Amino acid sequence: MDKEHLRKLAENPNFISGIYNYCDRWCKRCPFTSRCMNFALGEEQFGDAEDCDINNEAFWQKLSGIFQLTLEMVKETAEEKGIDLDSLDLQAASDEVRQTRDAARNHECCCAAKAYGQMVENWFDSAKDLFEKKADELNLKVRLELPESNPDEEITDIKDSVDIIRWYQYFVYVKLLRAIRGILEEGSQSPDEIDNDSNGSAKVALISIDRSIGAWGRMCNHFPDRKDDILDILVHLDRLRRKTETVFPDARGFVRPGFDCIYQGD
Ligand code: SF4
Repeated sequence: MDKEHLRKLAENPNFISGIYNYCDRWCKRCPFTSRCMNFALGEEQFGDAEDCDINNEAFWQKLSGIFQLTLEMVKETAEEKGIDLDSLDLQAASDEVRQTRDAARNHECCCAAKAYGQMVENWFDSAKDLFEKKADELNLKVRLELPESNPDEEITDIKDSVDIIRWYQYFVYVKLLRAIRGILEEGSQSPDEIDNDSNGSAKVALISIDRSIGAWGRMCNHFPDRKDDILDILVHLDRLRRKTETVFPDARGFVRPGFDCIYQGD
């Protein structure tokens, strides 16, 4: 991997520019893997399962190589634009970043999203017996071949719901943190325009919340005995969704490259 190769990859007209900025990173379920440079780069560099092993030193060396390359390209771009990186007050910049990050972490939306992640963890911790009981029940149904019962479908639906809940469990917080930081960083955002990064990140968070609510609704049908605590989670998520829509009233209107529009190239 060298700079030239990276540039060539970026110039491939088949890729949708910036699609990976407002996706949910769930590549296994993404319909745009063939149009995503991030996916192509990941496959090229880390496609081999052994390369992906976080204990594998080669993995970290490759990752470090990509960071190094990116840094060099940033320096080159800064030079082209006449920006002297050495003249920047890094201490002041890092203090500002820290303050904004802390303020964002304490924002109502981020606190609620973080609390949601913990609620999910607690629910699954308390549901181990429940899943075992459900497995016994479904196995019995398979053996009895009861009419009007479809245990395979039920198993698939439970697994799918759990996968969705787990995928977005912490993702909502990460995206909201980015969105809130964006609106706190005056100057780097364009609050008057719908298509700013904060709205994009908030939209991805909202979609993740929508899907999580849908998945919890399905879980409620499969585990009626746990209806009350699932409802608590649903109420929490719904409040978070409404609060996010209040803070980012234009987020739903953000157009995500690829996902929300037919891409026609730059
Ligand atoms: S756009 Fe799709 S393929 Fe690319 S990083 Fe996001 S989820 Fe993965």
